[in-house]
Amino acid sequence: MLDADFFRRWMTATAASVDREADRLTALDSAIGDADHGSNMQRGFAAVRTTLADEAPDTPGAVLMLSGRQLISTVGGASGPLYGTLLRRTGKALGEAAEVGEEQLAEALRAGVQGVMKLGGAALGDKTMVDALLPAVEALGSGFGAAREAAEKGAKDTVPLLARKGRASYLGERSIGHQDPGATSSALLIAALAETAE
Ligand code: ADP
Ligand code: MG
Ligand code: MG
Repeated sequence: MLDADFFRRWMTATAASVDREADRLTALDSAIGDADHGSNMQRGFAAVRTTLADEAPDTPGAVLMLSGRQLISTVGGASGPLYGTLLRRTGKALGEAAEVGEEQLAEALRAGVQGVMKLGGAALGDKTMVDALLPAVEALGSGFGAAREAAEKGAKDTVPLLARKGRASYLGERSIGHQDPGATSSALLIAALAETAE
């Protein structure tokens, strides 16, 4: 069973990973966006880390809802409200239980990803974070390692796609041949989950 501490460690591991990979995320965003994805994610997850340390929410749902609120209030870019929605919706779906099972988490994350798709209007194959998140959620039934692999593959597979949502879509055909920054950071989020579960 996964308790609030597990979810706090997941968020902290994501913050550390985003710190390590910030330059790469920004480089990807400089190719097909406005070169701020690394700093957006760093600012957002630094705020998440600080708030979780201060407030120490004591259920999995509360950890994710608080984290989502922080992302929405600290990240100006498109990714803030989208990641914020992902975590808030997932947290809400977990309810008030002190511990949750893997299956419950998989189901809650599915609701979270549906929230992202509803808010952003992106479908699978539109070259967004959805391309990493949706396969990850679908693979989660086979374990955390499978989810990580699916997210990493989903992110890599955005390279040949034409962007249909977000800033990259303004480039039209010129968005082809580059990996989507948000799909890449989503793979980091899922990898941090798998790392925390090890
Ligand atoms: P901004 O584009 O506002 O500068 P970021 O650079 O932080 O924001 O985030 C860009 C990422 O957000 C993209 O790479 C993409 O994965 C994701 N994104 C943008 N718009 C959408 C959308 N409508 N639906 C899903 N994801 C989106
Ligand atoms: Mg950007
Ligand atoms: Mg921006």
